[in-house]
Amino acid sequence: MKVGFIGLGIMGKPMAKNLLKAGYQVCVNDFHKEAVEELVVAGATAGANNAEVAKGVDVVITMVPNSPNVRAALLGENGVAEGADKDTVVIDMSSIDPVESKKIAAELKERTGMEMLDCPVSGGEPKAIDGTLSIMCGGKKEVFDKYTDLLKAMGSSVVYVGEIGSGNVAKLANQMVVAANIGICAEAMTFAKKMGTDPELVYQAIRGGLAGSTVMDAKVPMMLAGNYKPGFRIDLHIKDLNNALNASHAINMPVPMTAHMMEVMQELKNHDEGSCDHDDIIRYYERMTGVSIVKEKSFFIDLRGKCYEYRFYQGRYRSYYYSY
Ligand code: NAD
Repeated sequence: MKVGFIGLGIMGKPMAKNLLKAGYQVCVNDFHKEAVEELVVAGATAGANNAEVAKGVDVVITMVPNSPNVRAALLGENGVAEGADKDTVVIDMSSIDPVESKKIAAELKERTGMEMLDCPVSGGEPKAIDGTLSIMCGGKKEVFDKYTDLLKAMGSSVVYVGEIGSGNVAKLANQMVVAANIGICAEAMTFAKKMGTDPELVYQAIRGGLAGSTVMDAKVPMMLAGNYKPGFRIDLHIKDLNNALNASHAINMPVPMTAHMMEVMQELKNHDEGSCDHDDIIRYYERMTGVSIVKEKSFFIDLRGKCYEYRFYQGRYRSYYYSY
């Protein structure tokens, strides 16, 4: 099977490499020519533009940032629609607004007769490299059945969710849960610290109970270590929450928790932290309370029933007093 692959960023590059490893013939394109070169060295061919990538292939995969990028790659100048055969199928694996996904699929069908699936992913760069992404799929079931094996070369969980747009509905639901979950983990750990209790021990005490989650285990240790290296950038999470707000408002559904997390993330962006990992939400709480949970940045001194905590905050140690 011949595959066209458009978008060789953090996620697309390892995904395309996994297709090569699985024996597929892959033709690639990206604006970043170093990424294209890297794939050519790994065994791919390169198209001069997206129309060329789509020529003579069975399926074209797109892995670009957002809805306007998908629209440009498929329907824009020198886009897939200009080069593809009507039997070529498009699998968009980007995380985009499901309403836009439906519109793009309908326009593609009307212009070219081509079918489209929306199959966004969860798992981030490490799982893209391992080929163990979770892939959520929308579109015609018979088209999905035909390309399940191809998707399994990039993911360990491939689930059919429903008609076109459903894959992105599942992805947005995922992003809503993750945002709120990180937010409450940050809030609870800051609460523990401000109460004078070690947040790391609180985390150890609660992670095996009902409050425990994959998010808690992935993000609380990062917060305790003061590690904000992405991972998943705040800017991309803002993009996803924006899509979730647009999609829910299109059906007149209020999403108050999602809206709240969007505003928290806007505060982070306002502090030039858009490129940080989304565990950076802890710094919103740090600014609000003056308390940092970062381990190395604070120490306690106990003097006859009076506890002083010294915290490194905004460039210097400050002392805080607790009596008990
Ligand atoms: P990225 O910004 O690293 O890569 C996107 C690539 O697409 C860029 O290299 C860009 O040059 C290319 N591109 C954009 N428009 C193009 C066009 N018209 N033609 C050719 N190339 C084009 O983004 P990423 O982190 O790889 O994310 C891609 C998608 O996957 C996003 O929708 C994101 O939300 C989603 N996602 C990302 C992660 C993650 O951890 N990074 C996890 C799950 C899902």
